[in-house]
Amino acid sequence: MTAQLTLYNSLTRSLEAFHPLDPAKGVRVYSCGPTVYNYAHLGNLRAYVFTDTLSRVLSWKGYPLTHVINITDVGHLTSDADAGDDKMEAAARAQAKSIWDIAAHYTAAFKANIADLNIRQPTRWSVATDHIAEMIDFAEKIAPEHCYQLESGLYFDVKSVPDYGRLAGNQDDAAEGRIDPVAGKRHPQDFAIWRKSPEGEQRQMEWDSPWGNGAPGWHLECSVMSIKYLGAPFDIHTGGIDHREIHHPNEIAQNQAFCGCADTGSHFWMHNNFLVDRQGKMSKSKGGFTTLQSLIDAGVHPLAYRLLCLQAQYRSELEFSAENLAAALTRLKRLVMTVNALKAKAAGEGVAPVAWIKRLDEAVSDDLNTPRALPVLDELLAEKSLSPADRLAGLAEFDAVLGLKLLELRREDLRMRPVAATTTVEEIEARLVERKEARAAKDFARSDAIRDELAAAGVEVMDGDPLGWDWKPLLGG
Ligand code: AMP
Ligand code: ZN
Repeated sequence: MTAQLTLYNSLTRSLEAFHPLDPAKGVRVYSCGPTVYNYAHLGNLRAYVFTDTLSRVLSWKGYPLTHVINITDVGHLTSDADAGDDKMEAAARAQAKSIWDIAAHYTAAFKANIADLNIRQPTRWSVATDHIAEMIDFAEKIAPEHCYQLESGLYFDVKSVPDYGRLAGNQDDAAEGRIDPVAGKRHPQDFAIWRKSPEGEQRQMEWDSPWGNGAPGWHLECSVMSIKYLGAPFDIHTGGIDHREIHHPNEIAQNQAFCGCADTGSHFWMHNNFLVDRQGKMSKSKGGFTTLQSLIDAGVHPLAYRLLCLQAQYRSELEFSAENLAAALTRLKRLVMTVNALKAKAAGEGVAPVAWIKRLDEAVSDDLNTPRALPVLDELLAEKSLSPADRLAGLAEFDAVLGLKLLELRREDLRMRPVAATTTVEEIEARLVERKEARAAKDFARSDAIRDELAAAGVEVMDGDPLGWDWKPLLGG
């Protein structure tokens, strides 16, 4: 793995050669995690397929890695700027549950999604509400020179640090309506460090602080937890591209205030682009989002969604549609069948072919270019001059980076039954045998009737399928 790793740094808006800041510490990565007030939608999960690809590439290239992902269970308002309600409080009210139950439920669901997508566990999950005391300490340290108090809480003065908004490209958030005004703020971009609970309002989550009873502003947690667990500066900070506009510029401002220097706190700032559908960016607040579980319930293997993500480079927008997903599922089936056929033929341990590993290295070292690596994998698996065992040894290297479980998956694993299905696999197989007999007896009326009955039960009969599948669940039915 000798190719130079090159990554796109949003801060400099350019591709840069990656070298660890302190090789003795390995590579230190912080990823902004989910706000656990609802199920993650597929767009959110794209962000973690991206961080997982980054983490796998770093490990595969031999860097020891420390990776922290946070869980936001307080402070994130319904608008990324300082407006609206706390998302957690609002969800708890709407569902008549305690915030802690809401957080526990959606955190567990998120971690199940992570496991289903074969995303590696980070070194540490850090939970915002476990760090309130440290957030207050941090705020006390930066408050004298960088903050001011209003009736509604403690605010950060963005003009007190150099270069505020450099990461966002200094676009005018206020003019573009991304920042709602709060009475008394000195500058529209100033943001809450501590939000005081409104007079007479009992909130479920609140803590005592020098600025009154209340809760931390959302941006504070990431500065505090990243510095606590990774030191400053660390190597790579990740998030979705929306974080480039407000959340990360605000983290940078806090980090600069804390260190009393111009350093942003991380060497690289990396952002994945959006997953979009025909209505635009997928988002939780719009409602009607698609969860990973809804795909699984429809009979789609979750790794088909992972493959869909890997087919695009993380910096390009990716369109989600039933057609794209079905195509990715077919591609995954094809890969699994090819690997299973090779397994049947392979004798003994193989040796990963150097030339192919080099091509994989070059692709992923080019800013995690997985769409370039995938066709190389197809070529490798089809390369007749290599023994099946050597091809499989090469595949193991590819899959260390792609995480598609290609050596483990069996054909049957990919044929999942929709939850709403009324028939069992055995019943379907039995009906297909009957249908074959009817066709052999040229009883086409009977064979068509069986096909229609199966369709009504959510099963599509596939005659002459090139992959040799005789049926599949009907998608989107
Ligand atoms: P949230 O739970 O809203 O804090 O978001 C979790 C992660 O998902 C963040 O890194 C967001 O930037 C990212 N994200 C949100 N929507 C999308 C989307 N449609 N496509 C890709 N990433 C997204
Ligand atoms: Zn964050």
